[in-house]
Amino acid sequence: MSNTIPSMKCSDCGTVHPTGIAICPNCGSEKIAEHAGVPLGEVFTFSVNTFVPAGKFKTRAPYIIAVVKTDENMFMTAVVDSPDPMNIKIGDKVVFKEYEDELTPVFTLAAS
Ligand SMILES: [Zn+2]
Repeated sequence: MSNTIPSMKCSDCGTVHPTGIAICPNCGSEKIAEHAGVPLGEVFTFSVNTFVPAGKFKTRAPYIIAVVKTDENMFMTAVVDSPDPMNIKIGDKVVFKEYEDELTPVFTLAAS
């Protein structure tokens, strides 16, 4: 098993959310605690950015920005690293890699 996803879990309704919340968006409970999220998920939707921006993404284009749905039904906007970004598909399995710069979630395609 690879990394877990630093996340938050509501002890009242059991939903898992990205970090940085104080109140459960699902039920309004304040009983939120840190949670080691399951690092597996799939591509819910995506866009392939072919524009070459300035800054740290300059050498990354083309790259995939995706909404990933984890196996715990947590939705995260993330970068998905792929050797072949133009062939990404909805439903592709992904594995959490890291929070790059402690800010951007990065996933990689799971071995098929
Ligand atoms: Zn809740």
